[in-house]
Amino acid sequence: MPDATQTRPAITASHDVVIVGAGFGGMYQLHRLRGLGLSAKVIDAASGVGGTWYWNRYPGARCDVESMQYSFGFSEEIQQEWKWPELFSAQPDILKYANFVADKLDLRRDMLFDTRVTEAKFDDTTNQWTVGTSRGDRFTANFLIMASGCLSSARVPDFKGLNTFKGKTYHTGAWPHEAVDFTGLRVGVIGTGSSAIQAIPVIAAQAASVTVFQRTPNFSIPSRNGPMTEEYERKWKDDYAALRAKARATRNGIIAYPNDFSALSISPAERDAIYEARWATGGTTFMAAFNDLIFDQAANDTAAEFVRGKIKQIVKDPATAELLAPTSHPIGTKRICVDTRYFEAYNRPNVRLIDVRSAPIEELTPAGLRTTSASYEFDAIVFATGFDAMTGALTGMGIEGSGGRPLEAEWRDGPRTYLGPMTADFPNLFMITGPGSPSVLSNMMVSIEQDVNWITDCLSWLRSHGIARMEATRKAQDDWVLHGIEVANTTLYPKAASWYMGANIPGKPRVFMPYIGGVASYHDKCAEIAANGYTGFQFGGAEKVAQAAE
Ligand code: FAD
Ligand code: NAP
Repeated sequence: MPDATQTRPAITASHDVVIVGAGFGGMYQLHRLRGLGLSAKVIDAASGVGGTWYWNRYPGARCDVESMQYSFGFSEEIQQEWKWPELFSAQPDILKYANFVADKLDLRRDMLFDTRVTEAKFDDTTNQWTVGTSRGDRFTANFLIMASGCLSSARVPDFKGLNTFKGKTYHTGAWPHEAVDFTGLRVGVIGTGSSAIQAIPVIAAQAASVTVFQRTPNFSIPSRNGPMTEEYERKWKDDYAALRAKARATRNGIIAYPNDFSALSISPAERDAIYEARWATGGTTFMAAFNDLIFDQAANDTAAEFVRGKIKQIVKDPATAELLAPTSHPIGTKRICVDTRYFEAYNRPNVRLIDVRSAPIEELTPAGLRTTSASYEFDAIVFATGFDAMTGALTGMGIEGSGGRPLEAEWRDGPRTYLGPMTADFPNLFMITGPGSPSVLSNMMVSIEQDVNWITDCLSWLRSHGIARMEATRKAQDDWVLHGIEVANTTLYPKAASWYMGANIPGKPRVFMPYIGGVASYHDKCAEIAANGYTGFQFGGAEKVAQAAE
């Protein structure tokens, strides 16, 4: 396999479509475009397919949506043939799955790896995109599709003295390919988000000591993961088409067996019995215990208090338990975490928790790091510090739209899209799971399939109408953005300083980026817009424009 350290001649080529990203989004998009008979090239900085599952190789990495659901549903052959080893499969198995799909669909022949897209410019005269890469390649294409990922731009905080630390450093989202052996080492872990919560118990089982630096505690539900049973697999595979349809008809793209009544409509004892049952089942479906947990603070408080109680039961040291119990945000308004014995890890003698809310990290030092109150020494530091989510990959790519407008400048006050796939003044540029779509609030496989299908149908429609240029109107975009804010404000989500709000990046505008109206209603809205001739979009560059716009 080629890698970025090897040279190769620069490529100059023209395609109907260039796709950035060879994760699940780019893979499925390529497959669908081939079905239209379009020529497409997928470009990825990675050395292989898989995206998230190529990069996030940290110990304990696994999905938090059950594998039977967190998988492609578009091919009956693929979903019947593939066998998941666990209920929530681990990163190596998900990466194997991505490679299995790539083999099955023969995707790699149209993919270019170890190549980063560094610029993309739209030409108003030809209605084409020119895409430049880190290898000096130059591609022209009628359409540019961003499958560049919502959680692909890994971020290390700008700590003073970052490069002075003499030990090894790792970021969960850019983990080495070779196995990392922590045996006998003193390890510092910065962060307590989903990645850290998965990694900490596994690292703690190996390392001499693990010191966790926590700024904000998170709610986490045990996954109750286990081996896939023949019986459970059959239950899904015998009825896959119907079950996938059922998932698409939900709010989050996950079959969660929601209770359609308020947490406040029953007695505390009845409520706790329901929470106990959900806790025993495990996973994100905990939040489906009642229908008002994300809307009503008092209802949410009951769930939050239940989980805080569980944390205090599990963690033996009362001071540590208190620190681990989240109080800064309503439960579920930051991505709820799913763990395997995370809180239990704090009962190990080699794990300690440091609160960096009260005493922030000041700098990294040659020996470790220093907070405002103490110094710590490590052999290795793990940054589980997250991503420049939803916009980082897009604004870091040198995209210039109509009239040379840089995307980065257009989105300075926060991302603005119409429906998610398009943004005004960036003609013929599509985004899979873009800001303004349900995206990261959902089972991403469901949202990826929805978006790819919509984009593919759109390209087919443009071709059949002889249209060379399509873009969102400002009016439609403004209305959609406003609608997104209104819907978000009916929920408790904006109360949390989350990465959904851009709050994890200093200086990033605080805007709720995904669309919270739900997967099913979003699908219906997108389908309606398409059926009505893509209302809210404008067209150009061909004789049939007037006809299409009617
Ligand atoms: P990605 O998989 O992120 O792929 C994007 C690709 O684009 C990357 O390979 C990247 O290298 C490439 N790229 C970006 N910019 C450039 C550039 N300039 N040039 C070239 N290449 C570029 N979602 C769920 O629904 N359920 C889960 O259980 C779940 N677990 C997750 C666990 C982790 C650790 C993380 C980080 C995310 C998880 N997600 C989960 C979200 C996950 O990102 C999506 O489910 C899904 O994998 C995204 O696929 P994608 O193809 O859209 O993007
Ligand atoms: P994250 O949720 O953004 O967590 C980053 C952590 O680093 C937070 O605890 C954050 O604290 C901390 N942090 C950041 N900067 C810091 C600083 N300067 N000082 C101290 N602490 C700092 O990132 P993530 O854990 O990688 O998860 C991102 C998303 O990926 C998840 O929400 C989820 O969608 C997905 N994911 C899913 C799974 C899964 O279970 N399948 C696993 C991993 C990731 P603050 O909270 O205070 O900012």
